[in-house]
Amino acid sequence: MLTKNVADGIHCVEDASVNWFLVEEDERLTVVDAGLPTSWRSLLSALDELGRRPEDIEALVLTHGHFDHLGFAERLRFEVGVPVYVHENDVPLTRHPRQYGRDRPLWWYLLTQIKALPIAVGFLARRAWWPQPIKKVHRMPEGVLDVPGRPRVLFTPGHTLGQCALHFPERDAVIAGDAVVTLNPYRGTRGPQLVSGAATVDPERALRSLDAIADTKATTVLVGHGEAWTGGAGRLVELARRRGPS
Ligand SMILES: [Zn+2]
Ligand SMILES: [Zn+2]
Repeated sequence: MLTKNVADGIHCVEDASVNWFLVEEDERLTVVDAGLPTSWRSLLSALDELGRRPEDIEALVLTHGHFDHLGFAERLRFEVGVPVYVHENDVPLTRHPRQYGRDRPLWWYLLTQIKALPIAVGFLARRAWWPQPIKKVHRMPEGVLDVPGRPRVLFTPGHTLGQCALHFPERDAVIAGDAVVTLNPYRGTRGPQLVSGAATVDPERALRSLDAIADTKATTVLVGHGEAWTGGAGRLVELARRRGPS
């Protein structure tokens, strides 16, 4: 499902509670995150709705290397020749998407968190845990990345060791990836929070990394799971901190 202009020139596609984004600059596009394997169809229909073609995509930037954000990455790279950028700490995840670090076992959440069950079922139906590994990636440094939209890459480790947020200063927006979310896929809870320990490798570090997001003072924060937050980065971070790890 495509929602246009969640921020100025940034469009959101949601597939089974996973968000990914299309950033427009003139006729050119950057895709941020690649959803689930079945999101390829959503990509084609979103491009159609925007009057764009796959060839207009100049870059795919991954906020982090988790399985539920790698969906169509390899296909876009291989079939359309789009370069894939990710922080170097998450390069191993792009090659072995199911070998991710956890602070707490996944089974505990699957057995106890009834509200999260529909999300897990949606993930399974879309083969979320089985994206194609990405054969070639570019390691992105911090600072301004020279792709459409010219995001400022902010290193925000903790959720994964290479998790990055992307700040678009002229658009007053940040794409946070899973550094902070407004829907926790492992508990089914809503509102600003960290993702549960089932998919967060170092919650304490994740809490510290929230400073980088607050410092942007952006009005809009777009997250990997849940609704866009338009109440300011500072307030979002304050609420997520209050809630703490889960
Ligand atoms: Zn994640
Ligand atoms: Zn995620």
